[in-house]
Amino acid sequence: MDTILVVNAGSSSLKFEVFAIGDGPRKLLRGQLEGIGTAPRLRIKGSDGQALADQAHAQSDVPDLPTAMRVVGAWLRERHEGRLAAVGHRVVHGGPDYDRPVLIDEEVLTRLERYVPLAPLHQPNNLAPIRAILDRRPDLPQVACFDTSFHREHSQVASHYAIPERFYAEGIRRYGFHGLSYEYVSGKLREVAPQVADGRVVVAHLGSGASMCAIFGGKSIESTLGFTALDGLPMGTRCGQIDPGVILYLLQQRRMTAQEVQELLYKDSGLKGLSGISNDVRMLLQSKDPRAAFALDHFVHRIGLHAGSLAAALGGLDAFVFTAGIGENSPPMRARIAARLAWLGARIDPARNLAGELDVSTPESKVRLLVVPTDEELMVARHTLALLG
Ligand code: AMP
Repeated sequence: MDTILVVNAGSSSLKFEVFAIGDGPRKLLRGQLEGIGTAPRLRIKGSDGQALADQAHAQSDVPDLPTAMRVVGAWLRERHEGRLAAVGHRVVHGGPDYDRPVLIDEEVLTRLERYVPLAPLHQPNNLAPIRAILDRRPDLPQVACFDTSFHREHSQVASHYAIPERFYAEGIRRYGFHGLSYEYVSGKLREVAPQVADGRVVVAHLGSGASMCAIFGGKSIESTLGFTALDGLPMGTRCGQIDPGVILYLLQQRRMTAQEVQELLYKDSGLKGLSGISNDVRMLLQSKDPRAAFALDHFVHRIGLHAGSLAAALGGLDAFVFTAGIGENSPPMRARIAARLAWLGARIDPARNLAGELDVSTPESKVRLLVVPTDEELMVARHTLALLG
């Protein structure tokens, strides 16, 4: 059996899935090596949810991502029967060049390394496993799939900031992210809700990272994320849209260093920063602390504002789709967000919402409210398979 390994590497964890390839990719197992460099732990589950591995490692045995990749590779060689035919990687930034997945070679990897300054916290982690595999198995085809690609057809007007043109030429543009998730959901809509798939759709990817995308005719036309993964909605620990004047103030008046500002905006802001309690919506919903309620109020408020601007970009709204951790799993958050869309004619059905049905709107609702679980890894597997024929 030939298989594809899909790798999604973050700063302290390496997520992976293995797919059998035949008519299309079929998920065989999924795993995660988390706590890299601190308390490494490898957990793997089969497609039926059965635990296949749960191994703790010494901190010094898995100090970084390349070693993590080797640990995962060793497990797969030993315990997994398939023949690895290719590896697909989720890569956050395709820069101005890549509007579709690409087969990796030395030249492509060098180009992708040039985008590190555009996504300093994500891109190096995404590229480290690619480099590790390229060094060890140069014969093994590797494909990079980008979170920016789905947004590359945005109009010039949508992708510009109002700063002198030379900065756009240098790559300072509104790229948009979470593209693999949006592409998957947009494709899934054709299957599960064909009546709206070609209409005016806003997809809300609400997870630890959060953004929304305006999709028309199956194509992204606007996104709440821009140059980096900081813009738009407040997220678990990221600030979302903020007046650039605040950053100038922090640098000039508070004399914070650029590094300190980066830490603040990426790691100590958002739901965590506002509540002072947690970045996890489950904990905030359970908490009796008024700061938890306030953080969630702010989150919902900002989603409502951005939904309005995306609906304006679309000239109306036929469907609003909830996806990712919060969107897929939290009926109370869906209800609160839907209430912010009432002015557009959206009406949620409480029983359907609680049951987590595909369509959680009432028959009278002018906007279909849908819950569509995302699958970024499957999207990467499909692209990898398509590219390699
Ligand atoms: P993701 O990044 O898509 O895996 O989403 C992770 C986030 O989803 C977590 O940080 C939680 O805030 C949120 N989440 C997951 N399950 C629930 C739930 N049942 N209710 C509310 N939030 C949830």
